[in-house]
Amino acid sequence: MTSFEDLPIRDDLRGRSPYGAPQKVVPVALNVNENTHPIPEDVAHDIVARVAAAILQLNRYPDREFTELREAFARYLGHGLTPEQIWAANGSNEVLQHLLQAFGGPGRRALGFSPTYSMYSLLASGTGTEWIDAPRDADYELSAETAVAAIEQHDPDVVFLCAPNNPTGTPVSLDTIRAVADAARGIVIVDEAYFEFADPGTPSALELLEGRPRLVVSRTMSKAFAFAGARVGYLAADPAVIDALRLVRLPYHLSALTQAAALAALAHSDEMLAMVDEIRGQRERIVRELGRLGFRPYRSGSNFVLFGGVDEPGALWQALLERGVLIRDIGLPGSLRVSAGTEAETTAFLEAIALFAPSAANRIGA
Ligand SMILES: *Cc1c(COP(=O)(O)O)cnc(C)c1O
Repeated sequence: MTSFEDLPIRDDLRGRSPYGAPQKVVPVALNVNENTHPIPEDVAHDIVARVAAAILQLNRYPDREFTELREAFARYLGHGLTPEQIWAANGSNEVLQHLLQAFGGPGRRALGFSPTYSMYSLLASGTGTEWIDAPRDADYELSAETAVAAIEQHDPDVVFLCAPNNPTGTPVSLDTIRAVADAARGIVIVDEAYFEFADPGTPSALELLEGRPRLVVSRTMSKAFAFAGARVGYLAADPAVIDALRLVRLPYHLSALTQAAALAALAHSDEMLAMVDEIRGQRERIVRELGRLGFRPYRSGSNFVLFGGVDEPGALWQALLERGVLIRDIGLPGSLRVSAGTEAETTAFLEAIALFAPSAANRIGA
């Protein structure tokens, strides 16, 4: 059988593996940080109506500048942003790829603080950008000093700050973001994919955009908006950044159907985001209960929790899967990650994992 290695593939892609979160059909899937709440039915009807109207015009190319959608994102984000400062694409993964196509590339370096979102290094490799893993502080925190030291050492063209960080959930302070933006010569991307799940009152890096033309804040509809299947991500930055991204995007990259669906969902953003408080509540419950069971949950500002204190992550992951609960083994020693689901899903996870809790082992041992 032919392997891709036998093909005349680019040398820098040899030996690489694709993004690979397992996609399994299980009763309780809490492995890829999706919003497990379905879209409210009245919103779904509105989406269908707008998509239906768009279908009647599918003989034409869509608005290449997705003007109406950029207006809607600017309104949603607030902070005095204008549509000229907004970009969008098929998931924030494509937004991030556009950024690397424009500001990374052969002979350039992108830096992130590991462990962090695995797609950053994959997008770097796909665009021929060198990837640099810089370290974090204890408990996966990231202080301004640690971050700036890495930037001074490596002088990257692109910096990724995942705030809060996936897979650890760690919030990133505005102090750290400001220090990185001020120390870096290159583009600084703050990935706020999980921003809506942060504790109320948490400031967004959007506050720092003014006067910082190399700072970019990326968001997605995949998580808080429960819209992962629609593939819509976006960013806010200086209009000059948007001009640069126009050079690398494919023409008409956002289909008319995607634009229609996203506009309909954004028109109902209050209702779409109504589940966010409930999910944050389930995350707090997971942190509390895992702690009580003797695991070591890390600080989280997202809709998922990384927890340590797991003797054999692979075995525990498998044991939960056998009970219909799929979580994520992200390869961090002694740790697993779980997404906050509905109350029922979270209960199913907590009941299953209680059977294998360190505190249960202690009780049996005692
Ligand atoms: C889920 C996630 C995204 C979102 O990707 P989409 O392509 O918008 O679905 C972006 N960044 C991080 C860190 C994520 O975890």
